Amino acid sequence: MPGFELFGTEEKKEVQDVLDNGVLMRYGFDGNRNGHHKALELERDLASRMQTEFAQVVSSGTAALTVALASAGVGSGDEVIMPTFTFVASFEAILSVGATPILCDIDDTLTLDPKAVKEAITSKTKVVMPVHMCGSMADLKALKTICDEHNLILLEDACQAIGGTFDSKPLGSYGDLGCFSFDYVKTVTCGEGGGLITNSKKYAENAHKYQDHGHDHIGNDRGAETHPFLGYNYRLSELNAAVGIAQLRKLDHTLDLQKKNYTILRDALTAIPEVTFRRVPETGVESYAFLNLFLPTEDLARKGHKILGEHGVDACFYWFDNNWHYYKKWEHLLEPKSLNKLSEEQQTGLQKNNRSFNASDAWMGRTISCLIKVSWSESDVKERASKMIEALQSIL
Ligand SMILES: *Cc1c(COP(=O)(O)O)cnc(C)c1O
Repeated sequence: MPGFELFGTEEKKEVQDVLDNGVLMRYGFDGNRNGHHKALELERDLASRMQTEFAQVVSSGTAALTVALASAGVGSGDEVIMPTFTFVASFEAILSVGATPILCDIDDTLTLDPKAVKEAITSKTKVVMPVHMCGSMADLKALKTICDEHNLILLEDACQAIGGTFDSKPLGSYGDLGCFSFDYVKTVTCGEGGGLITNSKKYAENAHKYQDHGHDHIGNDRGAETHPFLGYNYRLSELNAAVGIAQLRKLDHTLDLQKKNYTILRDALTAIPEVTFRRVPETGVESYAFLNLFLPTEDLARKGHKILGEHGVDACFYWFDNNWHYYKKWEHLLEPKSLNKLSEEQQTGLQKNNRSFNASDAWMGRTISCLIKVSWSESDVKERASKMIEALQSIL
């Protein structure tokens, strides 16, 4: 997955453009920037690659989710349905706009289970937020049908699956809003950064103002601009945007490499009948950022993860026990512990999350996710495949 594996002269050239003119900020100083508008250029490239009308780049993936929610008018008293398996950014963004995250079970896609989503809907629900974890996607068609029926917003977190598609559409572009992270370990990186995409003019108009203190960006005198509503600062710097431009251009090449390496490992592992794979919804194409497999039981998955490590197969994750991507480790959310006082509505709403999620546990307990790197040579991958087979066969 990491784009930093392909860091080279292309990134350096884009950054040098910015250093040469010294304008590190995306707004203002037009006389000095020699025509370079890196954040704007990255937005145009992102919208074009993702086949949406609008894109807004911001300072992180977490910021992209926050700005997306605020742009859609989500706030105090609203509930946002999110999965039990995701990165902590999901609930951070929801809480930061004043809304309440409502946890919901996942299924064998390792993303939101549409049936569980239906059961979680209340009169307060405003958004369904599927998270396309580890390179593959939620059943967006089923989720969209539910959202249409209940007049809800579908917000895709595609931070870990950039480049995948569903129904021939780039992930992130199927829902009302889609978000990406360009942090250091993502498929496209600019150090720290993120972006949101949408076909809604209203959301896009809200987003560009909200991420820059509410500035209307009309005219060329920043100090004289008006502020139609409150905003914050989630701007992306020109330096980060410059790296992102070069990285995004490499996306299709990165995806080819991921697919090639993924396929070698997957084909090899199909020789073990006890190993099965995460379900990809019909019409979905993975980004191949991870290979996600199930072992027959929780006990075997735990042992499998351990033995893979002992055989030198690095970058495999057993999220169920030891990582902050699964709800079991979110004590700070579940208790909850917050520096600033949460609203009454949030405090009451959050109590709903203090229950067991047996369906999620049943899948995550059996899941091992292996990162796919793009810097591996073909012989590296083949050697890795034999080590994986040897390791897993020794415990099955
Ligand atoms: C990385 C990530 C984010 C947050 O991105 P940052 O840029 O690190 O803030 C959000 N959601 C998911 C699923 C992620 O993997």
